[in-house]
Amino acid sequence: MPLQEITLFPLRIRLHRPFVISLGPLTHAKNLFVRLRTHDGREGWGEASPFPTIHGETLDGALATARWLAPSLIGRSSESAPAYTAHLNRTLHGNYALKSAFDMALHDLAAQAAGLPLYRYLGGAEARTLYTDYTVSLGTVEEMVATAREVQAAGFPVIKVKLGRGTQEDIARIAAISAAVGPDVPLRIDANQGWSFEEAVEALRGMAGYNIQHCEAPIDRYDWNLLPELRRLSPIPLMADESCWNAADARRLLAIGAVDRINIKLSKSGGLYGARQIAETTDVPLQVGGFLESRLGFTAAAHFALSAERVAYCDFDTPLMQEEDPVEGGITYGAGGAITVPDTPGLGARLRPEYLLPSRPQITIT
Ligand SMILES: [Mg+2]
Repeated sequence: MPLQEITLFPLRIRLHRPFVISLGPLTHAKNLFVRLRTHDGREGWGEASPFPTIHGETLDGALATARWLAPSLIGRSSESAPAYTAHLNRTLHGNYALKSAFDMALHDLAAQAAGLPLYRYLGGAEARTLYTDYTVSLGTVEEMVATAREVQAAGFPVIKVKLGRGTQEDIARIAAISAAVGPDVPLRIDANQGWSFEEAVEALRGMAGYNIQHCEAPIDRYDWNLLPELRRLSPIPLMADESCWNAADARRLLAIGAVDRINIKLSKSGGLYGARQIAETTDVPLQVGGFLESRLGFTAAAHFALSAERVAYCDFDTPLMQEEDPVEGGITYGAGGAITVPDTPGLGARLRPEYLLPSRPQITIT
């Protein structure tokens, strides 16, 4: 069925408290929702959460680029994700966060047309329960310990900790958090490129005795050639995040033994199609994460997680950090970080009706 109409809904969602990583603090999710409509009136939904310091994209920029891109999509088939993705990538380099929204919406339509929940359309067999960690922002030791205690009390099975600001300080953060929550609670750490090579060696060795599953993005994304040596020296498994956007990155990193695991995010891979290509090209454990998407973007991520066998870790916590929940349907969060994925055809998530009112900012392209 050809696409007839595209509507763009920019939305700023305040966070309960600032989300702080080594690249800086954020107080709001600034996301762009995309609705594709076909001639027969079906709707597909997607969401982009551009993170300026990582994607090089902003909400205003994504909105402008989406207006530029959308006319070329009108009239295209809603049922061929590969052809649509090829068109997006031929038409526009980069802009992967924005492209992920268009990709999700197209996959939503294609799965609806097939009469399948998105995870089944992607090849997944069963709707097993997923479990998310919850992330402690970078801050003082006291702040981070307090948040870690809250996360533990809320029942999350794993605590993710943002680091990358001073090696001895980071070791002290982990020591204090581990002492507070106990050695049986697994931790995941993420330096967001905040350490130099030498600092990473010192920090990771200094954290050898703690219950840490892996470390994401220890060093600058462009220093990926140093990762094999760092991995040899590190007692903690390394996970590629900012250094791995697509299947070509994954192949290059794994060919040189740079990392033990890969973190896939739809807004790095340009959506589900690119994410599947990474999963198909690798034989290491995968994490699925995101940026500051609402439950809509993470519903797409969860469908993908159910479809890819090697996904061992989910990092789907940012919707829980947001003061508004603009989404109808979608994943639900239960006790202990459990996540249930919709079993209805398509994505199973859309913006709530009040977010579609004409008084809300929106742009329609026909
Ligand atoms: Mg990360």
